[in-house]
Amino acid sequence: MNIKVLDTTLRDGEQTPGVSLTPLEKLRIANKLDEIGVDFIEAGSAITSEGERQSIKEITSQGLNAEILSFSRPLTVDIDYCLECDVDAVNLVVPTSDLHISEKLKTTRDKLIDLSNSAIEYCKDHGLTVELSAEDATRSDFDFLKSVYENAIDHGADRICVCDTVGILTPNKSFEIFNKLRDIPVPIACHCHNDFGLAVANTLSSLEGGATEIHTTVNGIGERAGNTSFEECVVSIERLLPEFSTNIKINEIYDISKLVARSTGVYIQPNKAIVGENAFAHESGIHSDGIIKNSATYEPITPELVGRKRRFVIGKHMGTHGLDNRLKELGLNVNENQLQQICSDIKSLADMGKTVTDVDLQAIADNVLEINHEDRIKLDELTIVSGNKVMPTASVKITMDDDEILNAGVGIGPVDAAINALKTLDIFTDVDLIEYHVDAITGGTDAFIDVIIKLQKGDKVVSARGTEPDIINASVKAYISGVNRLLRD
Ligand code: MN
Repeated sequence: MNIKVLDTTLRDGEQTPGVSLTPLEKLRIANKLDEIGVDFIEAGSAITSEGERQSIKEITSQGLNAEILSFSRPLTVDIDYCLECDVDAVNLVVPTSDLHISEKLKTTRDKLIDLSNSAIEYCKDHGLTVELSAEDATRSDFDFLKSVYENAIDHGADRICVCDTVGILTPNKSFEIFNKLRDIPVPIACHCHNDFGLAVANTLSSLEGGATEIHTTVNGIGERAGNTSFEECVVSIERLLPEFSTNIKINEIYDISKLVARSTGVYIQPNKAIVGENAFAHESGIHSDGIIKNSATYEPITPELVGRKRRFVIGKHMGTHGLDNRLKELGLNVNENQLQQICSDIKSLADMGKTVTDVDLQAIADNVLEINHEDRIKLDELTIVSGNKVMPTASVKITMDDDEILNAGVGIGPVDAAINALKTLDIFTDVDLIEYHVDAITGGTDAFIDVIIKLQKGDKVVSARGTEPDIINASVKAYISGVNRLLRD
């Protein structure tokens, strides 16, 4: 059974507290959703604002394959705005629980059905496809809910949707409610929220109950605890429910996840399924050893399936097999004794509570192999001016090979200014800072500051650290040490 995917990252997802997307960001996400094979894209809510309408119009003017919807209340004012945006369809949201009907809308069940029916007729008269979403369906009287759907279909609704608005379903209850709606003659969608962390589980159960469409958001963003996560749900359907399939190209899932994380500023927890930083990372010696022999030993799917790469993390749980592999990736061939020595040096560093980066590993290995690298860039002087009434400004003096170079930069803060002072130098131009992480080791303002960064040059990524009592020095030290490493390779 082929399952249709309605993605609402641009509507329900954008309702994430603190998130607001620019029209350009929305357009980029919509294009990517279309490219990846999403069937229906809910592009926003046309009634919201002029800017929102502008961005929906830009999306509808792209001629995408996906059906483009706008959220709409069952009111002609909303529907008219949807028409102005030239959408293909509306997600017509009608609250069906008594709580919503009497407390929120201050109306009655009968009047609500009239409102819903006439809104559907109005949409159909104007050529719109209608998906009728029953809001708070899972807390509604079932017979009433069913009569709302039956009325909707009689008046021309093309699809219906069960919304678990406050996320109170369990997988069993989800199966039950969809199973009771099985004889409904139009496609039935499932819209879940993640208040109890069950959105994906409930959505998967709904398919077994008879749902034929799922609502998702990329990275599971959305109000409160968010919505059903697109990537988790789609990959689960693909790999765990062989009787169902979707039109999604799952090898592009990681790309869209990163795009949405960057655009919304809602970063992904490291242990998130499929797209989290650690989802395909291995540190433990036993696991790494198994993975190298046969990846199926400790991975349910290969990272490549979802457009990712496996990562072996350097740390105290790492065994010699994983370590040897990592060293080879860094271009270092070591003998058995040297490997043991490097391994024990890493463990003692990790036992002191340190994160071991590539640069640390390189330094440890260089020590054991007695390799002396001459760093090409050395920091001689760093001066910062910062305060509440001045533009943070940094000047740096570095020695590069044998040349002395002076440069200055400004930034939104002193760290930014210092990095900008370095970045304008030719040698740094194609180096991108892709991650920056700060920790105060002992917690006080006099603590040692540990800065860990990731730098990228072409397809080469290195991590590096700087540990200093001064946050700016620590940042600059990490940056220069990473660049030296990139230049060495
Ligand atoms: Mn919702």
